Amino acid sequence: MKFGGTSVGSAQRIKDVAKLVTERGKNIIVLSAMSGTTNTLVEISDYLYKKNVDGAKETVNGLEQKYNQTIDELYSTAEYKEKAMKEVKACFNYIRSFTKDIFTLFEEKEILAQGELMSTALMNLYLQEQGVNSEMLPALDYMRTDKNAEPDTQYIKQKLTALLEKHKDADIYITQGYICRNAYGEVDNLQRGGSDYSASLIGSAINADEVEIWTDIDGMHNNDPRFVEGTEPVSELHFEEAAELAYFGAKILHPTCVLPAKLNNIPVRLLNTMQPEAKGTLIYNTSSSHMIKAVAAKDNITAIKIKSGRMLLAYGFLRKVFEIFETYQTPIDMIATSEVGVSVTIDNERNLQNIVDDLKKFGTVTVDNDMVIICVVGDLEWQNRGFEAKVIDALKDVPVRMISYGGSNYNISVLVRKEDKVRALNALSDHLFKNK
Ligand code: ADP
Ligand code: ASP
Ligand code: MG
Repeated sequence: MKFGGTSVGSAQRIKDVAKLVTERGKNIIVLSAMSGTTNTLVEISDYLYKKNVDGAKETVNGLEQKYNQTIDELYSTAEYKEKAMKEVKACFNYIRSFTKDIFTLFEEKEILAQGELMSTALMNLYLQEQGVNSEMLPALDYMRTDKNAEPDTQYIKQKLTALLEKHKDADIYITQGYICRNAYGEVDNLQRGGSDYSASLIGSAINADEVEIWTDIDGMHNNDPRFVEGTEPVSELHFEEAAELAYFGAKILHPTCVLPAKLNNIPVRLLNTMQPEAKGTLIYNTSSSHMIKAVAAKDNITAIKIKSGRMLLAYGFLRKVFEIFETYQTPIDMIATSEVGVSVTIDNERNLQNIVDDLKKFGTVTVDNDMVIICVVGDLEWQNRGFEAKVIDALKDVPVRMISYGGSNYNISVLVRKEDKVRALNALSDHLFKNK
């Protein structure tokens, strides 16, 4: 059971989660940092990169005050207040120790790890104060990435199994999401939002019956609730559908979370901590056909068009184009081709200038910035008629720069301008999901 930042964001929320998990019995509980904490730790690191020690110290003090207040509200006994204060103080003093020396990515990762270390310490102590026999499984002792920065699944399985065996009498296990060590033993993390990934790696390592992602909404909605009113939860999704939605912007699930669960065929359930009785979304290996399920949007996309007369009847042209993106380690999301040109999209502009310079050897290059990929997911198997037509029809008043369909059975993607995103998302909801 993984609980996100909002789910453990205050003393009251920690109490609610503690109640929920004790009622559920023996499970591994994966926690994110309390909401806002990781952002604040990023801010502190930013001050330290900029050598503004005063700014860093002030921000550290502000965050520490919030934790002290949480501790005060959370525990009822002086003994546990004191224990929690001691744990939290050690973390803040550790953060302060980085205000004295040079500051690099290495130190930043140490600072970013403190959020999950504190939230789990608070939860573990609270459960113990309630008389629950809970045991901490320190993520830094078993969660590890290899030399390619990929999870070292063999190592994780072996270490985690040994830890569970060592504490086999515990009622509940608490562990940190997001944080890990890299192949060199240094503290690292699984990228922002990566606690979902931790949960699915842990579930896979122990061959769990199910991985539950508990958050602040009752499952994957059929459109982004931040931009569309009246969205509704989707009851079931295929692993592939969930992966597409997560990759293309449905923030509820981290894009990397689906793969380990899919490979090990472990169902993933998205649930609401604030409304535990709601059904949520079940992600697993079967799909219900003949329906469009959900829409998501991914921002900050750049479209690049390469037009070339010489492409006519030429084989090997696409290889040359793709090789340039490979050279600059830039993944391509969407692609559309015609006989005289090809358009691709990227979400990482770091090497854009180099890529454009190299592409100019092969044709005329045009770049469109500030674009958004809108991804529609559901039964889009090509022989099922009418679904792609509905999507295109919904967008008849929106200028569409690219369309990608047929790459998988689950997805149709369109590229629109940033300023048309909200209008496009709403038009899709109106056409696809209203009056159903
Ligand atoms: P947590 O801190 O629990 O990991 P996140 O903030 O990462 O939670 O994810 C939950 C949020 O994802 C929701 O509050 C919602 O605003 C956002 N979200 C975006 N798209 C969707 C969607 N399609 N369905 C549900 N939530 C979505
Ligand atoms: N606390 C981390 C973050 O804010 C990881 C997570 O919440 O999943 O990115
Ligand atoms: Mg999240």
